[in-house]
Amino acid sequence: MAQRLIVIGGDAAGMSAASQARRRRGRDDLEIVVFERGHFTSYSACGIPYWISGLVPDPEALIARDPEVFCREHAMDVRMRHEVTTIDLERREVVAQNLEDGGEVRERFDDLMYATGAVPVKPPWAVTDAHGVFGMQTLDDGAALRDWLDADPQPRRAVVIGGGYIGVEIAEAMIQRGLSVTLVEAGEQPMSTVDSDMGELVADAMRGLGITIRGSLPVTGLEEHNGRVSAVVTEEGSIPADVVVLGLGVRPNTALAEAAGLPLGPTGAIRVDRRMRVPGLPGIWAAGDCVETLHRVSGLPVHVPLGTHANKQGRVAGINIGGEYATFTGVIGTAVTKVCDLEVGRTGLRERDAKAAGFEFVSVIAESTNRAGYYPGSRPMTVKLIAERPSGRLLGAQIVGWSEAAKRIDTLAVALWNGMTVDDMTQLDLGYAPPYAPVWDPVLIAARKAVDALAALDR
Ligand SMILES: Cc1cc2nc3c(=O)[nH]c(=O)nc-3n(C[C@H](O)[C@H](O)[C@H](O)COP(=O)(O)OP(=O)(O)OC[C@H]3O[C@@H](n4cnc5c(N)ncnc54)[C@H](O)[C@@H]3O)c2cc1C
Repeated sequence: MAQRLIVIGGDAAGMSAASQARRRRGRDDLEIVVFERGHFTSYSACGIPYWISGLVPDPEALIARDPEVFCREHAMDVRMRHEVTTIDLERREVVAQNLEDGGEVRERFDDLMYATGAVPVKPPWAVTDAHGVFGMQTLDDGAALRDWLDADPQPRRAVVIGGGYIGVEIAEAMIQRGLSVTLVEAGEQPMSTVDSDMGELVADAMRGLGITIRGSLPVTGLEEHNGRVSAVVTEEGSIPADVVVLGLGVRPNTALAEAAGLPLGPTGAIRVDRRMRVPGLPGIWAAGDCVETLHRVSGLPVHVPLGTHANKQGRVAGINIGGEYATFTGVIGTAVTKVCDLEVGRTGLRERDAKAAGFEFVSVIAESTNRAGYYPGSRPMTVKLIAERPSGRLLGAQIVGWSEAAKRIDTLAVALWNGMTVDDMTQLDLGYAPPYAPVWDPVLIAARKAVDALAALDR
């Protein structure tokens, strides 16, 4: 009899795992049943802000493969609009509810892939029946926001609460749609994924686009009128709003796992080993935004909910379920985003992470340009490096600038991943031609500056 894999969650991690397992094991050897509570499979949540803005005109473009393709070409039984409500580890069964007709199904498994993603953080003040308040996590969330923005009466005033990268990208999308936008942030400024000196550059660019930023301002409530949101309440008064988007971050979606007895780690996400197995529970796998992973620089467990990790982790789980061997060896926290033309990249530890992890370090900021100064389109680029003292090992890097800024972080990520020192980095053989870099690439200038700073301290 064929063994049976049940997958909970039909997006990046779940479908990567299912596809990899299928490549290695045919339908007579492995039955695959996927439960997805939403309307879409294998979609790019990362593309939602660009669909909201109108840059991507059609949500279909965000869907890599729809359920029929998985059923037809990969011999999977994909059950859409089915929410798994119980995992019974003892009987090796899941119970799922059909969200369309309320019916219940019970399915047995040999292997279980838990890939439920994350859920938007929603404080008690944000729990409301008022229309016009949105979290932003799935394509269904994006569709609901699009419908609201297109409905009559059309919203004119948007308030985005929380200035992480999703909040920032949605704020940009709203401004591009012609709404007036206020971003409210409890911390000093948006983009706390970079240090505040770099975040200030992002905040300036956002203000330049016409986005009002209200920093250090905790939100305490929402007001409504006739069943529609009408304002965001803060300690300094109310901000009128016709649409509110919660960008307060996400937490791992672990309720089902916890109830079943899957172990959670210190971050609150599911613990897994390098093969994406849940320790102590044979045949139970987890991947994506619901799991924690190792930070290769700090050595600490972290929850970094990003699509790049979800896809890789799902792939690793699927290869292992398929009978081969693969590992996911941790993250270094590389991420990129943009606010209109301003690009932001980060990798490794911020100053506060380096302090918390007990490192002694220097940090330097180097101002340079993306291209030779005389070449058309030359724009400023700011590179920040954080290097361990006295070894000079790179611990973290951040870049803010215009074109060619964000993806330069990948050079720094590779250096960091391989444990390079800033001294080694000054010798890197990086490409140069005037349209792409000044003769001394901004990365090399920053590395030289870090070497000088280390030398000055230890002189
Ligand atoms: C607006 C936005 C922009 C982003 N931009 C980027 C980016 O630029 N770069 C990047 O790397 N990452 C980005 N991300 C993050 C990325 O989308 C996620 O990390 C990735 O989608 C996680 O994949 P996942 O499979 O773990 O979870 P998800 O994609 O959340 O999928 C989980 C699925 O499980 C389903 N599910 C949950 N519970 C159940 C249940 N009980 N029963 C059945 N189904 C269930 C959900 O409906 C969902 O479809 C962005 C996310 C958002 C929201």
